[in-house]
Amino acid sequence: MTTPLNLKNLERAQLRDALAELGHKPFRGDQVFRWIWRRRVDSIEAMTDLSLALREQLAGARIPRLEPADVRVAEDGTTKLLIALDDGKQVESVIIPDKDRRTLCVSTQVGCAMACTFCRTATMGLIRHLEPWEIVEQVLIAERVLEERGEGRTIQLKGRGQAGKVERALTNLVFMGMGEPLHNHAGTAAACRILTDEQGIGFPPRRITVSTVGLADRIEPFLAETGVNLAISLNAPDDGVRNQIMPVNRKFDMDVLLDTVSKLELSRRQRVTFEYVLLAGLNDSVEQAASLGKRLVPVADRIKVNLIPFNPHEGADFQRPDLDDVEAFRETLLQWGVEKVHVRRPRGDRILAACGQLALEKKPG
Ligand code: SAH
Repeated sequence: MTTPLNLKNLERAQLRDALAELGHKPFRGDQVFRWIWRRRVDSIEAMTDLSLALREQLAGARIPRLEPADVRVAEDGTTKLLIALDDGKQVESVIIPDKDRRTLCVSTQVGCAMACTFCRTATMGLIRHLEPWEIVEQVLIAERVLEERGEGRTIQLKGRGQAGKVERALTNLVFMGMGEPLHNHAGTAAACRILTDEQGIGFPPRRITVSTVGLADRIEPFLAETGVNLAISLNAPDDGVRNQIMPVNRKFDMDVLLDTVSKLELSRRQRVTFEYVLLAGLNDSVEQAASLGKRLVPVADRIKVNLIPFNPHEGADFQRPDLDDVEAFRETLLQWGVEKVHVRRPRGDRILAACGQLALEKKPG
C-alpha cells in the first residue's frame, strides 16, 4: 500500500505538475493551491469549482491539519505553542508580541544534530526533519491562536488602493526555533516557497529570517531559492572559542563564514544578522569584543549584530553576563564601526520559550 498523497507538502509548481499528470490543465493545480492556503479548506469536496471527475480523482489525497497540544502564555505575552505531529513527536513554536510586531519563531526539525554546547535543543539530538507542511502549519496555528485572542487577523484588504494588500496576524517569521534550518535544506526551502507564494499565504520574503549555525556551503543556494533574510549564529570572537562551543566550526570556520557573507548579493537595505550568545567569562570580554569588531570591519556595512545574553536551562554550565558587561561589549563593537548592534531582551524565559530553551520535557517514567 502506498501512503496517500499529502497535498499540503506540494509547492504550487509541483501541484501543477501533479494535476497535469492526472490529465488536467496545470492551472487546476493553482486552484487547488489557493483552496488549501488561501481559503484554508480541509477537504477536496470543499473545492467547488473543480469538476466532479477531478474531485473524485483526488479523493484519496490528504489535506491534513496540525493542532497545538498545549499553549503557554508568559507575563509579557510571549506564547509557547507545543505542536503535536502525526507520528506522536512534538515541536515548539513561539509567538513574540512587540509594540507593532507579532513575530513567530518557527522550528524546522524535531531536535537538532549540531550539538552546540549552550543550547537546550541540542540535548535531544536529531530525531527527524520536519516536512514542509509541518513547518508551514506552525504559521497557520499561530494565526488561529492570535485571532481567537483578538490580537490580530489575517484578511485581504479591499477598497481603494488596497487591492492585493493583506493585513496579517503575524508580521514576521524567524526560523530560530528547534533545529538547524539548513540541515533540513529541502524541507525548509519548500516551506519558504509555500509561505511566500502570492497565490497562497503570500508572506513577504523580506519579513522572513532564516537562522543557521553556519552551514556555509548551503547559504547562497538557500537564499537564491527563497529570497528570505539570513542570520548566522556566530557566538564567538575567534575559532578557538567557537570550536569549543560549536562543533560545526571545525567544518566551516569563521573565515569561511565571513567570506561567504562578503560575497552574498544583498539588496540595498538588506543586512545579514550575526547572532552572538553572550556566555559570562567565556566570550563576553571587552578584548573579545574588540577582536570580533576588528574582524567584522570588512563586512561592517552589510551586517547587524544581535547580542543574546545566555538564557539558562537545567544542566547547562554557563552563566548570563551582567548587564554592564553586555553594554560594554556592545559599545566596543560600535567603536569598531559595526553600526547596528542590538541586545535581545529575554522573552518568555520563565516558560522556557526564550532562545535556546526549546526542547521537549522528558516524559516521566
Ligand atoms: N540552528 C539555528 C536556529 C536556532 S536559532 C541557529 O543556530 O542559528 C537559536 C538562536 O539561539 C541561535 O542564535 C543560538 O545561538 C541561540 N541560543 C541557543 N541557546 C541559547 C541559550 N541558551 N541562550 C541564548 N541563546 C541561545
